[in-house]
Amino acid sequence: LIRERIHVRGIVQGVGFRPFIYRTAVSLGLKGWVFNDSSGVEVEVEGEEKDVESFKKTLESHPPPLATISSLESLRISTVGSTDFLIRDSHKNAPTATLISPDIALCGDCLREMEDPADRRYGYPFINCTNCGPRYTIIEDIPYDRPKTSMKHFTMCRLCAGEYHDPEDRRFHAQPNACWECGPRLNFVDGDGRPSPENPDPLEETVGRLEKGEIAAIKGLGGFHLAVEATSGEAVKRLRLRKNREEKPLAVMVASLETARLMVHLSPEEELELDSPRKPIVLARKKENAPVAREVSPDNDYLGIMLPYTPLHRLLFSSGDFTALVMTSANLSEEPICIGNDEALTRLEGIADCFLLHDRLIHFRTDDSVIRIFRGRSYPIRRSRGYAPAPVPLTRSLRPVIGLGGELKNTVCLVKRDQAFLSQHVGDMENEETDSFFRKTVHHLEKILECRAEILAYDLHPGYLTTRYALEQEERPTWGVQHHHAHAVSCLAEHGLDGPALAVTFDGTGFGEEGRIWGGEILLADRSGYRREAHLLEVPMPGGDSAVREPFRMALSYLYSLYGLELFDRVPEFARRHPREKTDIILSMIDKGINTFMTSSAGRLFDAVSSLLNIRDRVSFEGQAAMELEYLAGDGELGHYPFDMDSSGEPVVINTLPVVEAVVSELAAGADPQLISTRFHQTLAVIIREVLINLKRRSGIGLVVLSGGVFQNSNLLERTVRILQKEKFEVYWHEKVPTNDGGLSLGQAVVAHEKSLSGG
Ligand code: ZN
Ligand code: ZN
Ligand code: FE
Repeated sequence: LIRERIHVRGIVQGVGFRPFIYRTAVSLGLKGWVFNDSSGVEVEVEGEEKDVESFKKTLESHPPPLATISSLESLRISTVGSTDFLIRDSHKNAPTATLISPDIALCGDCLREMEDPADRRYGYPFINCTNCGPRYTIIEDIPYDRPKTSMKHFTMCRLCAGEYHDPEDRRFHAQPNACWECGPRLNFVDGDGRPSPENPDPLEETVGRLEKGEIAAIKGLGGFHLAVEATSGEAVKRLRLRKNREEKPLAVMVASLETARLMVHLSPEEELELDSPRKPIVLARKKENAPVAREVSPDNDYLGIMLPYTPLHRLLFSSGDFTALVMTSANLSEEPICIGNDEALTRLEGIADCFLLHDRLIHFRTDDSVIRIFRGRSYPIRRSRGYAPAPVPLTRSLRPVIGLGGELKNTVCLVKRDQAFLSQHVGDMENEETDSFFRKTVHHLEKILECRAEILAYDLHPGYLTTRYALEQEERPTWGVQHHHAHAVSCLAEHGLDGPALAVTFDGTGFGEEGRIWGGEILLADRSGYRREAHLLEVPMPGGDSAVREPFRMALSYLYSLYGLELFDRVPEFARRHPREKTDIILSMIDKGINTFMTSSAGRLFDAVSSLLNIRDRVSFEGQAAMELEYLAGDGELGHYPFDMDSSGEPVVINTLPVVEAVVSELAAGADPQLISTRFHQTLAVIIREVLINLKRRSGIGLVVLSGGVFQNSNLLERTVRILQKEKFEVYWHEKVPTNDGGLSLGQAVVAHEKSLSGG
């Protein structure tokens, strides 16, 4: 007989790890005990050497689905003659490192029970177990125990309590455990808040309404969805109108992987992610004859698709005959997603025709995540449900620091020791509702992680609500972090790199130095600082935000820089499209510098070219013009356009006017817009290559990170990675956090930590 003490670290708490240890030990006839300690799980096992060995092997090879083991250390100790195996209480006063699990989609075992007429939870919309169900969205405080969750309002029945307390049951310590007898229930009301007189079954009633083309507000895991049949153009149009969302693509939910394959082209990696316990929205290329109304994602090559992730979603599809349902966050344009029943009834009045409610409170709103697969790996667009608050591991411990994010697609990031906890998607910080959700998120993260930030990191933009929040904090030190530096370090940090690296950070807008608007930046950056080595030529951005909404303003600006007033003769087609009265006003704004900023933004260059090609002069959502330009581009190289580099001063200025000039002359010569878009994309990749080759020659640095919202463009990303790898650069892009401003908070936190060490 031998005895070993085994210490397991990683995501091993609240994921059914102790029952798993218990079952494994008992099946091998081992004695001893297990408990949660401050940094993971501690086990002692006593038995024959071969059994102890196979115990350890099972731990590593078949851990519970939600567990991630980062290390397993064992130590031979003397035997004590244990006679049984026990799950001991956790050490109460030890500082906890309990990781709160993200919300997890319905598991296979629960699905089988839900579909089994003989099971006591047959058809129960809130079935869950240790391996699945709500977590982050129902937690009010730690430790993660039922009384600290929104399940505290439900008292478990005898059978549920039995399961909960039985270490051999798969619902042992499953905090949201519930059944028909004792748990949450569905409730249906119509648009006026009245229950349906005819049909007592809320689910059937909702399904019937959806089949008639009505818009249903359905309470889910992290908030309400607005649902409508995705095959009905009529119904989708009505939803867009009521939700005040003109063209921005809507996500759809389909019953199964088989249906998903009818809708979009799926690689094995995309299928794997789509059907993972995280169940994100996967952006994949739409199929030619996808059985979905055009209005779902008009003029868009991609479709955001997801699989049912709650038992209720499954029941909707098994009760109704839907090919696909649009499932979009229930909110008005950019406000936060609705979570409360009363809130939904008020805020969604006039939008939803009916409501499928339930009485399990959503404590913490969490939107669906959106990911793409790039080169076989995940490329997050929005990291939220299913991912948050799982930490991004760092290579070393930092002081408690919080990155507050930027403005659009905001997230916050609280670093505790060597783990970076990014919040769920907070949203666009443009209204009071989002601001208060942001404040709540900061507070909630600090509470559930038991970690109050000592340092706050914010963007340099003085107008951001996140900046204002930082500057309100009088008792804690704050550090401003330049936007593109934060992008660069965010990519470094998620890969465990320190730099220095050559950072290509291309995005729409970021506050630079001296109050200028940056966005086409090539930096030499490490965790503590950066040097702006090169940037795209600065051009006037007439009208500020209006220039973002109206890409033709950027086209006009480039043309004006190129040709002056001759532009009207040089580019007659463009001139015809835009009445002289309007263009004259914009030109005089440029001349007089009225509400006009200089910007080196790469996003705005994409906008300008999109408008020149008459793809889009006005957008109804951020990035639309650039996106449609991307979809036009092919995969080949087909040459590129000329550009200049002015290396006389520092930083190097990349003159993009020749690019625009070449686009104009090819257009005039009647070239295919598809060819122009392809060459334009290739031009940017070539620009990046040329600048980086020069920088590498000077600095000897071959490490490259690619970050910023423009790299959501996978055509550009693929070209850039390919062209740089050919030149033997070591290239990194995002895999764990978004390349857009949703990933900013991670970089901010790391930079602020470094700055605080060096005193600036
Ligand atoms: Zn389950
Ligand atoms: Zn029960
Ligand atoms: Fe940005």
